[in-house]
Amino acid sequence: MVVFKFGGASVKSAEAVRNIVSILERYPEEIVVVVSAMGKTTNALERIIEHFVNREEEKLKGGYGELKKYHMEILGGLFPDKGNKAYVDIGDVFEELADRLAQEPTMNYDFDYDQIIGYGEMLSTKIIVHYLNSAGLKAKWVDVRKSLKTDNNFREGHIDWNVSTELVNKNYAFNGEKYLVTQGFLASNKNNQTVSLGREGSDYTAAIIAHMLRAESVTIWKDVPGVLNADPKYFDDTILLEKLSYLDAIELAYYGTSVIHPKTIKPLQNKNINLYVKSFVDPDAPGTLVGNLAYEKLVPSFIFKMDQVLIRISPHDFSFIAEDNLEIIYGILYKHGLKINLQQTSAVSFQVIVNNDKRKVRLVVDALEEHFKVSYETGLELVTIRYFDNETIERVMINKTLLLEQRGVQNIQLVVRDLGS
Ligand code: ASP
Ligand code: MG
Repeated sequence: MVVFKFGGASVKSAEAVRNIVSILERYPEEIVVVVSAMGKTTNALERIIEHFVNREEEKLKGGYGELKKYHMEILGGLFPDKGNKAYVDIGDVFEELADRLAQEPTMNYDFDYDQIIGYGEMLSTKIIVHYLNSAGLKAKWVDVRKSLKTDNNFREGHIDWNVSTELVNKNYAFNGEKYLVTQGFLASNKNNQTVSLGREGSDYTAAIIAHMLRAESVTIWKDVPGVLNADPKYFDDTILLEKLSYLDAIELAYYGTSVIHPKTIKPLQNKNINLYVKSFVDPDAPGTLVGNLAYEKLVPSFIFKMDQVLIRISPHDFSFIAEDNLEIIYGILYKHGLKINLQQTSAVSFQVIVNNDKRKVRLVVDALEEHFKVSYETGLELVTIRYFDNETIERVMINKTLLLEQRGVQNIQLVVRDLGS
């Protein structure tokens, strides 16, 4: 038994869904198929959630209408027969979503977010399971929320490994089907309310399920040939990393290689499960293998995080940045779920680099200002080079000014401003 994960880009259209069938058919094994929301659906749902909590009726209707139209177009492309049961099923999901959006928002934004965001994966998995069966592939739909249980940390649930392992082993059993189609990104709490695992969390779902079922391998199907040593958006001569140790993969993911979600590797490493990252456009190409491998060539990798914010925090009374102040600062960042990408402490100031999540940054800066002097700069880039040398540093510094630098033995991190911007 193996686990496959298909991300949004691999299921963004009727044609893309057909391509998935052609991939699945190449493999003789039983497959747990973990699927994300189609295309940019999760982003669309995030906008719908904003309209929902701000009570913007017209925009809410518009967003809902567009989402429905998009999915209906895919259905139309997959099922020419309008009598197909898929239409009823998907119609029901949209009705349920409409009912949900007609409710009043609660005071808990993260709770509301999770109750709405999950519709993307509900829709994608239902469409795909219908299509697989219509194409003659025996598939069953499995609601992941009945098996993966978390605490109440909405928008980034922590998995209860014991309870979930038992449920996963009970609910992900193949009874004559060859494919179990299930949702990435989602789980539920004790009260069966949906709890999501954090944006881009479907890779993590695949790893969790593989760990719990002791799968032979996990394959993440992407629109890139595998894990590259840099994002082709920023570099034109990227190198495919054919083999990576778990540690290399964890480090690259941690610093922001967007190909693998950072939480994905650990559950696989613990059970020694191989991870393949392969192209759904070119499924015969080898892609990247992540596993219990010895170092081979140490290829320098470049990770770019764009649109970064540098927040500078200093005490009003010129007291040192000591543990008591740090406790307040970390407490505020944690409370608002703003993750630190890089931090630097000096005697009288503390600097953190975070993603430009405007809502969270505003809340954090406001809260910090109650205790400290705070200033911030936007529009920065955070560049991490793994296995760096002078040449690689020079290469990324072309046309940039340096604001902050941190050097380790293997990695260097540079906070820069692009002089062109
Ligand atoms: N659909 C979710 C997202 O876009 C989860 C995922 O794609 O992994 O964040
Ligand atoms: Mg996605």
